[in-house]
Amino acid sequence: MATRVVTVDRNLRTGPMPIVRGMALTFKNMLATWFGGKASTVQFPEEKRKTSGRYRGVHILTQRMDGTPKCVACYMCATVCPAECIYIESGERPEKDIEKYPTRFEIDLLRCVYCGFCVDACPEEAIVMSRENDLVGTTRAELIIDRDRLMDRNKLIEHGPGYRPEEHDVRRPVRIAALERLRKEHGIVPGMPQRG
Ligand code: SF4
Ligand code: SF4
Repeated sequence: MATRVVTVDRNLRTGPMPIVRGMALTFKNMLATWFGGKASTVQFPEEKRKTSGRYRGVHILTQRMDGTPKCVACYMCATVCPAECIYIESGERPEKDIEKYPTRFEIDLLRCVYCGFCVDACPEEAIVMSRENDLVGTTRAELIIDRDRLMDRNKLIEHGPGYRPEEHDVRRPVRIAALERLRKEHGIVPGMPQRG
C-alpha cells in the first residue's frame, strides 16, 4: 500500500479553528466507532494487528536441509549491530566448503533496537526477522535468546516471516560498513582465507 504523505503548514496562525477541527475529527471517529463498528483499537492479545512482510520483529536463524544453522559465524551481523547485542562463538564444521558454524549465538532482545542491520549484513541469509512483537519474559535472562531458540522460531508459522530484503542494493551499504569495521578494528578481511 502506498504511503500517504501529509505536508503540515507550520505557518498556520494560532486560534480556535485548529482546536475545533481537531475536536470535530475526534467526534467523527467516536461516532464511527460507536455506530459503524470502525474501532481503531484491537482487543489484544486475542486479536492482533496485521503486520507487513517488512516488519522487524524478533529474529529467526534459518537452517540448512539437515537442520544445522545456515550461519557460518562470520561475525558480520555482530560487527555491524549498533546496539552490540549479538554474541557469537564459533566452531569448525567438517565440510571444507563451509568451515565454521556458531556453537553459541545469542541476541539480547532488551538491547536490540530492531534496526535490521544484522539481516542486511548477513551474506548467507542466515538471519531474518519475524513478525513477532509480543515475546515476554519475567527476567532479563529470558530475553537473551540463544541459538536453539532462534532456530526453533522457524516453526512459528503464525506470525510469518518479516524483514528479509532480497535486493542486493538495500543490503550493500550495511555490508560495506560491516566489512570496513572488521578490517579497521579487527584486521579481518572475510572471504580471503589465509594460505598455509
Ligand atoms: S536488529 Fe539491529 S540492534 Fe537488533 S540485533 Fe540486529 S543489528 Fe543489532
Ligand atoms: S552475518 Fe549471518 S552468517 Fe555471519 S555470523 Fe551473522 S548470522 Fe551468521
